[in-house]
Amino acid sequence: MIEVSVKCIGCTKCVPACPFGAIAMVSKKAVINLEACTFCGACVQVCPVEAISITREVSSKDFSSYKGVWVWVEFEDSTNLDKQGEIKKVSYELLSEGRKLADQLGQDLCAVALSDKNSNYEKVLGEYGADKVYLVENAEFVQYNTDIYSTAIMALINRHKPAVFLFGATVKGRDLAPRLAAALYVGLTADCTGLAIRDGLLIQSRPAFGGNIMADIIAPNSRPQMSTVRPNVMKISRPVTGKIAILIREDIKIDKNLRRVKILERKIDENQGGVKIENANIIVSGGRGMKNKEKFKIIEELAQTLGGVVGASRAAVDLGFKEKSHQVGQSGTTVSPRLYLAFGISGAVQHLVGMKTSDIIIAVNKDPNASIFSVAKYAVIGDAHEIAPKLIEALRKRKKG
Ligand SMILES: Cc1cc2nc3c(=O)[nH]c(=O)nc-3n(C[C@H](O)[C@H](O)[C@H](O)COP(=O)(O)OP(=O)(O)OC[C@H]3O[C@@H](n4cnc5c(N)ncnc54)[C@H](O)[C@@H]3O)c2cc1C
Repeated sequence: MIEVSVKCIGCTKCVPACPFGAIAMVSKKAVINLEACTFCGACVQVCPVEAISITREVSSKDFSSYKGVWVWVEFEDSTNLDKQGEIKKVSYELLSEGRKLADQLGQDLCAVALSDKNSNYEKVLGEYGADKVYLVENAEFVQYNTDIYSTAIMALINRHKPAVFLFGATVKGRDLAPRLAAALYVGLTADCTGLAIRDGLLIQSRPAFGGNIMADIIAPNSRPQMSTVRPNVMKISRPVTGKIAILIREDIKIDKNLRRVKILERKIDENQGGVKIENANIIVSGGRGMKNKEKFKIIEELAQTLGGVVGASRAAVDLGFKEKSHQVGQSGTTVSPRLYLAFGISGAVQHLVGMKTSDIIIAVNKDPNASIFSVAKYAVIGDAHEIAPKLIEALRKRKKG
C-alpha cells in the first residue's frame, strides 16, 4: 500500500525519481498511479517532507506467484583497473549453486545484470547455468551506488517476484542486499556457507556462536528468501558450452538525483593495495607457531619464491605478525587456492572454514595431533622454522637447475 499524505508540498521531486512514470502532479499534490507503481520506494527516498509512505504486509502467506532463483551479477569496478567490468568469480559460484537450487525447485535460474552495455551476457552467464538474464542498461551503473542499484533491483523484484535471491558476501553485496531486504521488509541471512532446498524452502546454513555450530536458517514468512554467500565457498560447475540464456532487457528509468552519495576521490592504501588473498592460486600462511614478526618473514619469503601471497591465522594477526587483510578464516577471508601451505597453524574450526576448500593443503606442525592435519593432503610433522628455509632453498635450486 502506498499513500501520499497531506504533508505533500507539491515540490515535484518524486515525479522524475519514479522509474515507471507513475507519479503525476494534480492540483499541486503528488498522485500515484497504482497500476504503474512497483512500490520500489524511490519516491519515498526523495520526498523532503516524508509525505509518501509504503506499508508492506509482513506475511501474505500465499507465495505461489514468487518463482525462480535469482543471482546478482557483480562486476569488478574502477578500483581494479586490470579487471574493470569483468564478472566477479563469486557470481559464477552463485550461478553454479543457484542452478542446483533451481533444479530442485523446478524453476528458472535468473541472472540480474546492471551494466552500461551488454557484453554477451546471455552466453557468458548461460554457460554457467542461467536460464534467463535480466539486463538493465544504463551508464549510471558503471560506478556502484547503493541508491541507484537498489532502486533498479527493487523494481525488478516487484515486477517478477523471485522466490530466492543470492548475493556475494562482498563489500558491495553486503551493502546492497541488506538495503533491499530492509526496503522489502524481508529476511536476509548473511555470510552463508551452505544452501539447500527442503520442503520448498531455502535452507541457509552459516556458522553461529563463534563457529561452534552451523545454524540452518529459513525465511518462511517473506519473499524473496535472500542470502549473501561467502566468496570461495561454493564450487564453480563446469560451463556448458553453447548454452545460451534468454536475454530480457528491462526498461527502468534511473534518475541521477537518487544518488545521495557521490565518490569524489579514490585512494588506495599502499599497505593493503597488493593483497588479494581471495583470488590467489597459491597461499602460504603462518600462525602463532611462527613465534614473532621477525621469524614470520620466512613465510613471506616462501610465498614470494612460490609466486603466491601471504596468509595468516587470527592469532598471527592479533600478535602483529601480519595485517588483518591477510587473515584467513571465519572473521577474515575465505580462500580457495590451488595450493595452501600452513606453517605453525593448529587448525581451529574458525581457520578451517576459511581454507578447507583449497585444492591441495600442505600443513607443517610439530604436534602430530594438530587439527589442521584433518584437512591436509600432505602432513609434515616438524619444526616450521627448519622446514620453511629448506623448502625455499630447494625451490631456488630447482628454479636455477
Ligand atoms: C568468533 C571467532 C572468530 C575467529 N575467526 C578466526 C579467523 O578468521 N581465522 C583464524 O585463523 N582464527 C580465528 N579465530 C581464532 C581461532 O579460534 C584460533 O584461536 C586461531 O585460529 C589460532 O591460531 P593459530 O593456529 O595460529 O594458533 P594456535 O592455536 O596457538 O596454534 C599454533 C600451532 O603452532 C604449532 N607450532 C608451534 N611451534 C611450532 C613450530 N616451531 N613448528 C611447527 N609448528 C609449531 C603448535 O603445535 C600449534 O598447533 C576466531 C575465533 C573466534 C572465537
